[in-house]
Amino acid sequence: LVVLSGVEKHFGPLHVLQHVDLTVHRGEVVVVIGPSGSGKSTLCRTINRLETIDSGTITIDGRELPAEGRDLARLRADVGMVFQSFNLFAHKTVLENVTLGPVRAKGVKRSVAKDRAMELLRRVGVADQAHKLPAQLSGGQQQRVAIARALAMDPKVMLFDEPTSALDPEMINEVLDVMVGLAREGMTMLVVTHEMGFARRAAHRVVFMDGGQVVEEADPETFFTAPTSTRARDFLSKIL
Ligand code: ATP
Ligand code: MG
Repeated sequence: LVVLSGVEKHFGPLHVLQHVDLTVHRGEVVVVIGPSGSGKSTLCRTINRLETIDSGTITIDGRELPAEGRDLARLRADVGMVFQSFNLFAHKTVLENVTLGPVRAKGVKRSVAKDRAMELLRRVGVADQAHKLPAQLSGGQQQRVAIARALAMDPKVMLFDEPTSALDPEMINEVLDVMVGLAREGMTMLVVTHEMGFARRAAHRVVFMDGGQVVEEADPETFFTAPTSTRARDFLSKIL
């Protein structure tokens, strides 16, 4: 569904993505791990063109990401993204946060979008918070709203960039549980996280990045018990 091929990205002299080849199949959950600065966030950001790439190609559902224009907006709507910081509209209610995207970007009728938003808020377990402002919610609740907001656009793939790393420990699981649920329902997901429990529960494949390269890919069981590269072994010995 998502195919990156020979993707290169520089920030000035820094070569942040070095010939990255990566495929996420329909219904597959891929977890990306790697040291700080290895290019994980940049990788996510290139997939919905928050960052341009220098060379290589990215296709989503068979269509290459164009550099700009209306096609880009349409392709981008296929990619839901959830960040570490929740990025909700601070002055809009929770319900409005989830309703606005479909109304503005897809021309969905307000009443229809609202019903769908309530359904999604129920699904992530925060329907009772619908009329509050984001700041009145806990971090875990805000992040679940952010997930609902992304889902409201009916994305083909969901990208998560360290969705739980800004959360207090007791809130991490409520967000991971929602993600595991999504994975079980067959959502295609690319998830940057250091939550190895999530990787073990939900990932079909783990991709290890270091220095802008995909160094190793394997199913979680193999990766965690028998990583083949020295760099992956070093990294795992630090985080496990
Ligand atoms: P972390 O685990 O800390 O989130 P990461 O793997 O997500 O790290 P990236 O955020 O993708 O890493 O960054 C990769 C490298 O690119 C880092 O060295 C970072 O400093 C650099 N970088 C990221 N964004 C920019 C930018 N907009 N301009 C210049 N350099 C950048
Ligand atoms: Mg990052």
